[in-house]
Amino acid sequence: KPFPIHLSGAVQHGFGRGGKDLGCPTANLPDESMTPMSSVTEAGVYYGYAQVSREKDGQVILPEEDGRVHPMVMSLGTNPFYKNKNMSAEIHILHHFKSDFYGHPMKAVVLGYIRPQLDYTSREALIEDIETDKRVALKSLARPAYETYRVDGFFDLNN
Ligand code: ADP
Ligand code: MG
Repeated sequence: KPFPIHLSGAVQHGFGRGGKDLGCPTANLPDESMTPMSSVTEAGVYYGYAQVSREKDGQVILPEEDGRVHPMVMSLGTNPFYKNKNMSAEIHILHHFKSDFYGHPMKAVVLGYIRPQLDYTSREALIEDIETDKRVALKSLARPAYETYRVDGFFDLNN
């Protein structure tokens, strides 16, 4: 089985295409940090846990946040720009952050698959499906067996 898959890297700027408009900002990881996902070839939506570090360039600049581990949903897709079929991932963390965290180190553990990538005929349908994804993620992660991944040494900020 491919899971758990551990990812980490500094949060990058995406295309700014409507994440926040949809009420669903998605944090992007750099291509290099996607190598562990190569065991997974299916585009779609996944769930797991994610953590944003307060530190950026040795400075603590996200004072409200404390490196806590939160549930997340991740959209995985092939970037049509690249012929090499590299997967790119966008992670929506199920937590309200008071500020953006571009450039901050982010870690994520991917624990399961929710659904394939779908085409949407309306913005409303897409928003509705994202809400379903969030509920599925929270339901799945509520299983006691997943707790071990949340408190895993991987998320120790000194690692
Ligand atoms: P972009 O195209 O640059 O990814 P988005 O509209 O998708 O723009 O917003 C993503 C950014 O929003 C993240 O990089 C992060 O800095 C910020 N952000 C704030 N809250 C969250 C959250 N709960 N989950 C993910 N990103 C968030
Ligand atoms: Mg985004």
